[in-house]
Amino acid sequence: MELSKKRRKKLQQSVEAYYGYRRYEDRDVYVYDHGGKLGCGVFASRQFFPGELVFEITGQMIRADKYDGSVYAMHLDDDWYLEPTIPGAFINHSCSPNCDLIQVSDVSNGLVARCNIEPNTELCFDYQWDAQWWIPKCQCGSRNCRGWVVAEEKVKKMNRIAQRNKKAK
Ligand SMILES: [Zn+2]
Repeated sequence: MELSKKRRKKLQQSVEAYYGYRRYEDRDVYVYDHGGKLGCGVFASRQFFPGELVFEITGQMIRADKYDGSVYAMHLDDDWYLEPTIPGAFINHSCSPNCDLIQVSDVSNGLVARCNIEPNTELCFDYQWDAQWWIPKCQCGSRNCRGWVVAEEKVKKMNRIAQRNKKAK
């Protein structure tokens, strides 16, 4: 189900207000505000080895058929989405990420290191989103950046939607 532009904007505003308190730090990760458009990101507090679980992402469960999650919502399975709490909500996308997102239980996802991660490195995973009108341009800066925060096979569809969006303006 797709949200209307107005509905999504309103929802996002209320989530932003709720997440106004953005400081977070523990022995494994911390949240840092890049400022401006880039917003917050999650960084490693210590070194992580390939395959290591960096942290478990929990939050509020949302039924997929009543889906009205924010942009932070994560897909769990056909029936459920997860609206993650901080710090999980602030993990940024990258087209060449240093972490994978895996489901670790019925109610949580896990961020797992893909490679050796040094302390103070930003943690990111590949969102692999479907192409939709509200999808932002990617700012990951990696050499193989797809240009949009969508899955590899959705790039063509996303380009078509972006063309349509441009005409509608
Ligand atoms: Zn990118």
